Amino acid sequence: MTEAKNLPKVAYFCMEYALDTKLKIYSGGLGVLAGDYLKGAKDYGFPMVGIGIKWKQGYTDQKIDEDGRPYDTYKNYQYDFLKDTGVKVTVKIRQRDIVCKVWLVDEFGNAPIYLLDTDLPENSDPWITGQLYGWFGEERIAQEMVLGIGGVKALRALGIEVDVYHFNEGHALFAGFELLREKMEKGMTYEEALAATRDEVVFTTHTPIVEGNESHTIDRLLYMGANCGLTIEQLVELGGSPFNMTVGALRLSRITNAVAQLHGETANKMWAGVDNRSDIIAITNAIHRPTWVDSTMLELGEKYDGSEESKKALWDAHMKNKKALIDFVYERNGVKLDADKLLIGFSRRAAPYKRSNLIFTKPEVIAPLLKEGKLQIVFSGKAHPLDDTGKKIVENIVKISKEYPNAVVFLENYDMTIGKMLTNGADVWLNNPRRPKEASGTSGMKAAMNGAPNLSILDGWWPEACNHGVNGWQFGDGKSVDDFATEAELDAHDLEGLYKVLLNEVIPTYYNDRDKWIEIMANSINSIKEYFGVKRMLDEYYEKMYIK
Ligand SMILES: *Cc1c(COP(=O)(O)O)cnc(C)c1O
Repeated sequence: MTEAKNLPKVAYFCMEYALDTKLKIYSGGLGVLAGDYLKGAKDYGFPMVGIGIKWKQGYTDQKIDEDGRPYDTYKNYQYDFLKDTGVKVTVKIRQRDIVCKVWLVDEFGNAPIYLLDTDLPENSDPWITGQLYGWFGEERIAQEMVLGIGGVKALRALGIEVDVYHFNEGHALFAGFELLREKMEKGMTYEEALAATRDEVVFTTHTPIVEGNESHTIDRLLYMGANCGLTIEQLVELGGSPFNMTVGALRLSRITNAVAQLHGETANKMWAGVDNRSDIIAITNAIHRPTWVDSTMLELGEKYDGSEESKKALWDAHMKNKKALIDFVYERNGVKLDADKLLIGFSRRAAPYKRSNLIFTKPEVIAPLLKEGKLQIVFSGKAHPLDDTGKKIVENIVKISKEYPNAVVFLENYDMTIGKMLTNGADVWLNNPRRPKEASGTSGMKAAMNGAPNLSILDGWWPEACNHGVNGWQFGDGKSVDDFATEAELDAHDLEGLYKVLLNEVIPTYYNDRDKWIEIMANSINSIKEYFGVKRMLDEYYEKMYIK
């Protein structure tokens, strides 16, 4: 690596950052990645700043009502630790000047992150930065204009030099339009500005689900003023009609990356039909260990040598974390789980492809295990506030938790605190998305490094790490939707795989061969902690994306 002072200076744009449980400006995995990324940049001295939004009410605080249904609550959050930069910038939205105040957050061991905020008395529409992912259509565009256009203007006003603009997901694309506008204002032609802007923008794509990639009608972009002076033809040439934010970002960047190797293949297939786009490479996600991993587990994993002493030390440290989780569950839900019984952790956004209740599909298989107390499962996860299907999924898990009150728990309002408790204290980490729909996933990495081996479909990051029976387990044998006539057949295949591995390998090893279990724990920690740590990821971004 060259010295930090010679490295390109990066401005990282993201809608959300998960930095700390008390700063409610994140929803899930995208924010966790961004937060960990900027913490890694700080730890290793990479010249980087983040651009984001100060969300007045954050994402939903999603609770469960007495009938077991999720409902959304919102609060106006106030933070005394944000620093006022004294800078304000103006973005013209729907022909009205919207003032964005710029806050600095550098409180959580992160590289500086500048947060834009429209909640000011001088604004006709202070609610633009009201709720993260709260609204669609015009309101979403307005938010993305604040992030992108406001973000570039904030960098200028703050006097921050930038060599590379990194759009983490398509939300930040309007920053590219602002960069084009700036260049044309200085006299470049559109073609010259396009070439120069492409040269300084890099893009990370996430969702491998077509509908997850946002699009807007051209009319609406013009009405909002998001086009920054670009003509209809230019807009259509960049993002099609309707205008797709991911397609636009693919065409306005020098290089794009997917977030795991398998996702790289998926993304290349998905966007094969888009001409004039940047190449899509793959850089696998990673996590910020100090945020998510118990350092004692890392140390004891390192020291593990198969001796009785090292086994006991590792097991005892895990039991301490498991008991802390059990206490936490008791405090939250009043359920007393048993520290001597196998405990599975599962937390996911409630989306159908994540198949949160797959494990319950055949009661004749699973019910006896839960009733005998051989198996305990702690779930968490939110549904998007406007997603009724997702809410049904949550409702269903809550219902099942009532059928097995001592063995199945649902923790409401999934956040960083729950994410950390669960990945620290579970014995096993379960993940069963319909392959290949998980872009990467990072919660499995957190669990693995804490000594909770993954029991997972070969999706996202797991194919890169899994050594079956050695550092965790796979099931489903890498089959995907394309291998079957229907989704139902894939589900049946994966279910059979899950039950087979659970009943023949996981449960017997846990109860009958503790030595082997502890060895798998140590292998999980030791085989995953380096490669899936944030340093490797940042090095790769510099080498493959930022340095020309
Ligand atoms: C780690 C974490 C995530 C990311 O989880 P994946 O499901 O693995 O993508 C999301 N939300 C929270 C609160 C987390 O802690």
